Amino acid sequence: MGESHAYDVLVVGGGATGAGVLRDLARRGLRALLVERSDFGTGTTGRYHGLLHSGGRYVAKDATAARECIAENRILRRIAPASIEDTGGYFVATPDDPEEYVDGFAAACAAADVDCEEVPLEEAFRREPALNRRIRRVFKVPDGSVEPWNLIESNVADARAHGSEAWSYQRLVGLEREGGRIVAATVSDGRTGSTTRITPRFVVSCAGAWAEQVAAMIGVTVTMHAGKGTMLIYNQRMTDTVVNRCHKSADGDIMVPVHTVAILGTTEQRVQDPDRYEITREEVAALIAEGEKLFPDLGRMRLLRAYAGVRPLYQPPAEATAAAAKDGRQISRAHSVLDHEAMDGVENFVTIVGGKLTTFRRMAEDTVDLVAAKMGVTEPCTTADEALPNQEAGKTYWLGHRLADHEHEGGGDAALICECEFVTRSMLDDYIASHPGCSLDDIRRGTRLGMGPCQGGFCTFPAAGVVGEVAGHAGAADAAEVADRAILGFLRERFKGTWPIAAGRQLQEQWMVNGIYEGGLGVESLLESAPLEAPQEVSGAQR
Ligand SMILES: Cc1cc2nc3c(=O)[nH]c(=O)nc-3n(C[C@H](O)[C@H](O)[C@H](O)COP(=O)(O)OP(=O)(O)OC[C@H]3O[C@@H](n4cnc5c(N)ncnc54)[C@H](O)[C@@H]3O)c2cc1C
Repeated sequence: MGESHAYDVLVVGGGATGAGVLRDLARRGLRALLVERSDFGTGTTGRYHGLLHSGGRYVAKDATAARECIAENRILRRIAPASIEDTGGYFVATPDDPEEYVDGFAAACAAADVDCEEVPLEEAFRREPALNRRIRRVFKVPDGSVEPWNLIESNVADARAHGSEAWSYQRLVGLEREGGRIVAATVSDGRTGSTTRITPRFVVSCAGAWAEQVAAMIGVTVTMHAGKGTMLIYNQRMTDTVVNRCHKSADGDIMVPVHTVAILGTTEQRVQDPDRYEITREEVAALIAEGEKLFPDLGRMRLLRAYAGVRPLYQPPAEATAAAAKDGRQISRAHSVLDHEAMDGVENFVTIVGGKLTTFRRMAEDTVDLVAAKMGVTEPCTTADEALPNQEAGKTYWLGHRLADHEHEGGGDAALICECEFVTRSMLDDYIASHPGCSLDDIRRGTRLGMGPCQGGFCTFPAAGVVGEVAGHAGAADAAEVADRAILGFLRERFKGTWPIAAGRQLQEQWMVNGIYEGGLGVESLLESAPLEAPQEVSGAQR
């Protein structure tokens, strides 16, 4: 075991919530360490739908959640403009949606402070020509879409600027308890296997759907309901506006435009293990059938991939038994800060569960308010007032910006690594330089390499070459092997998401890509000599 490290607070889990908690702690003067078992944003935050909630989806059944969403929606637009695309949102009444729900929608929005205005049908169809012409009413709300990885990076950067640290690929493997206190934690390096001992004064679990496992390390019970949701990514934005069905939330009733693609979701199905689940062809077919009520041509549009995430739904002890068989959609989306001193007699341990990505900052504020009070810290929360770093408005969102930057650097095809998402050689070099040892999958999250229509079919090979070349320049004797491992790891992850949707033209394209890598480049023969790099934590595909 390596040397021991002392911190005020250990934060477990590098999703949006953990990053938000780290930032808030750091700004209140506490020296904190965040540990994430994989890359940041590879849990539910990297597998969610992409919606910046206006609150519209909750107005009818949970006005408190709706109010919280719209309040955070307004704050995030101010503090994280580059992570948000202001798409706006429509709630549309299809012939299948109940009259009384549609009639009461605008009033329910007003009661929850969600801005809502009815839009003439001609205007909605003009803006979104792919919408179903049988839609009878349309309401406009301030929905948007959020880029999660950029948001996490900004929170972590701000925390680092305030003296805290964040370690990726470091899994919490043990907590030591003496009486009513946690006295130490052990984390294991996912790449080297070495372990480090941490001695924190306080531990905050932001492990989402994995909160149950973290709490169990010190014999505390936190009953989670891991609710898997499957989503489908289309290769084009058939809508520039988020489109929701105007009814009680259900499967396949929302389309979110994200960067160059659009995402249809979602489903709700309980899984026993948040790391082990699969996406079935039946789910894919059911989603498309529902989605066609919004966009009748969906069946003919090209799907890029299917992926799934697991909701960190929490069942309070009283409900845990009764609700075991309950539909996950009935479990509250509100967040809960669990004070394990009051609940379980562990005085320096808090868990935050539930909630939404849209409300991550508020979740962090509520959590850190409790932690600060217990630690005698009186500094107020400043995360709603201070803009996040690296958030120059709009900088990351438009392909046009990337094209302009590329032209500015001289243009041409030579330096273009990913043509679908316009990732240039210099972007790749910058990312690799600031994230030493990163995998191609880490690069994908940071730059969108391989996330466009070819799904890595054409960019994996040159990108792996760059990764190998950089390793060679850094003196790595195994530079070629680094490139091989990069190709294999990336292709394996990308293929996971294409199998559940492989049919028709998509299947043809998949065969072609397989032909390039297996037939042409013989990647399968590399498998024995070059084991895959970063451990794949979750069986289901990523976004
Ligand atoms: C299908 C689906 C769609 C959704 N759509 C939306 C949406 O459109 N808008 C919205 O606002 N919200 C949405 N949500 C909800 C939102 O995604 C989540 O509430 C949010 O991302 C949870 O973030 P988190 O940081 O709490 O959890 P996570 O992002 O899961 O972070 C927890 C982290 O803990 C890490 N971890 C676990 N165990 C350990 C360990 N032992 N050591 C170290 N690290 C560990 C995991 O690797 C993980 O990265 C959706 C959720 C799902 C499932």
